[in-house]
Amino acid sequence: MKITDVKVIKLGVQLPKPLGLSKGREFNFRGAALVIIDTDEGIQGIGEGYGPESYIVKTIVEQKLKPWLIGQDPLDIERLWCRMLTTTVYWDQKGQGVSAVSGVDMALWDIAGKHYGAPIYKLLGGDARGNGKVQAYASDLFWDTPEIMAESARKFALQGFPAVKTHLGRGLTEDEKRVKAIKDVIGDVDLMIDMNCGYNRVEALKVGKMLEKYDIYWYEEPLSPYDIAGLAYLKDKLDIPIATGENEYTKWGFKELFLKNAVDFAMPDIMRCGGITETKKICALAEAFDVICTLHNYTTGVGLAATLQVMACTPNCEWLEFDVTDYVLYESLLKNPLEIDGKGMVKIPTDPGLGVELKNHLIDNYLIT
Ligand SMILES: [Mg+2]
Repeated sequence: MKITDVKVIKLGVQLPKPLGLSKGREFNFRGAALVIIDTDEGIQGIGEGYGPESYIVKTIVEQKLKPWLIGQDPLDIERLWCRMLTTTVYWDQKGQGVSAVSGVDMALWDIAGKHYGAPIYKLLGGDARGNGKVQAYASDLFWDTPEIMAESARKFALQGFPAVKTHLGRGLTEDEKRVKAIKDVIGDVDLMIDMNCGYNRVEALKVGKMLEKYDIYWYEEPLSPYDIAGLAYLKDKLDIPIATGENEYTKWGFKELFLKNAVDFAMPDIMRCGGITETKKICALAEAFDVICTLHNYTTGVGLAATLQVMACTPNCEWLEFDVTDYVLYESLLKNPLEIDGKGMVKIPTDPGLGVELKNHLIDNYLIT
């Protein structure tokens, strides 16, 4: 089989209202870069590279990667991965160069699954838990009044999710009001806190001490991803687990987090860290350090599908990040409806490849030209 074409479709969704993060930041637009690979056997692969700035992923994929991907065998995924990310390593060790390759890698795995007539997880080791399911948590609550955030958390708890995640990060007093309000209404449902890199070490330690009192499940990205020593410092000082990694790239990046003992829950994002191929290796590396992986996934249904496939076949993966914000490009991109039970257990899709399809009405409505 040979690759005959590679292109990127840019999608964008204007949100009905802005979603608030730490330090007063908010966003009201979600962008996506879908990588489409065609072959001479008529099999088409779909992938996604992290694409809030999808024009960058499109440029890298179509201008840098496509010219030599054409004519290659799409089933030689390891060889193509190494060619894409180890030969021009001088300027693409991290960032959107790796995101672009992540999308290509994912599309190659989609082709492989369709070629072999199997879901990707079956090609990568099969069902690691044996029950055909993965456990999800509700992601996410965004900054609002304590009352509104608590009401949303209660709703997700009632839907059966055993854990809910919220964004905070606007100071000790305001953060605590929201933690208390949410904890008061969710009973024994766990609460994860995501600071989106909003604090410095002094603030993060102070807020972390407050979070300890509320038995928080994990403390996500309290610091800049540049400050690995700071994360290790917090991990040592606090009795709550540190989660980080959505802004880290490749096994070499994660190696630093593990060697410096800076993380309890590693959060590689398949759309950024190097694709399915690299995420499996990061998880294996984490396993050697006894670190749990919980894959970051805040993206379209293509990224959701890839995350489900990798989680399914990886023993040290826990907690599917399940987007509960009614994002229009989420479950709608799956070939068959996602099955999720009253306890937040998600059935692993068994369609060949990723089990996603480009639906014309969605592509037409949200296409960025
Ligand atoms: Mg996060």
